[in-house]
Amino acid sequence: MFAPRRARCPRCALPLRPGWPTGEPCALCEAYPPEFDRAVAALDYIPPWTPLIARLKFHETPALARPLGRLLAQAVRARGPCSRYTVVVPAPLSAERHRERGYNQAGLLAREVACALGLACEPEALHKHQHTARMMSLQSDERALQIRGAFSLLPDQARHLKGRDVALVDDVMTTGATLNELTRTLHAAGVRSVQAWVLARTPPPRSGDAVTAADEGRWEA
Ligand SMILES: [Zn+2]
Repeated sequence: MFAPRRARCPRCALPLRPGWPTGEPCALCEAYPPEFDRAVAALDYIPPWTPLIARLKFHETPALARPLGRLLAQAVRARGPCSRYTVVVPAPLSAERHRERGYNQAGLLAREVACALGLACEPEALHKHQHTARMMSLQSDERALQIRGAFSLLPDQARHLKGRDVALVDDVMTTGATLNELTRTLHAAGVRSVQAWVLARTPPPRSGDAVTAADEGRWEA
């Protein structure tokens, strides 16, 4: 698999407008900085990647995690070296969703990325103890509210990760609400720094897309 590289915001991984200074955060991050320190995305969440990611996520094709995880590892490598003590931790599913799906797609990606980069992986570190509705159709503020307080770290994992650098892995970042809340959970446990490594980043909406005015305002701020 091959994905063309494109200039992205170092904080949130949104594609940068042409002419935007390389390495500078985007205008959205200046107005609404995310909780995590930086973000890497391998792909835009657009065709032909959307059906592929849907197969990984919803259609029982966990084997796709290997090539897609390697794409993510390549994107992380292209962004420069990270500490070899970084611990890779996937965004969790609720126990109910895990049972329903049979696997956590973010966990599979996290294992592949950690293996490719020679890093430690803690696939069970974070738990989602609230079962939330699927968030694809929610506005950004609703997403943030729904996910607040939804995650926790097991006490022994909190001790283990205290003072460490963590790379959170997820399949798709849209508004960043989930990754922001996971970052708050990790910081509360004393984690030193948090990066977000996502396979795909939802690009800014165009007018006429199925998003709300509030979403557009945040994206275009
Ligand atoms: Zn940004």
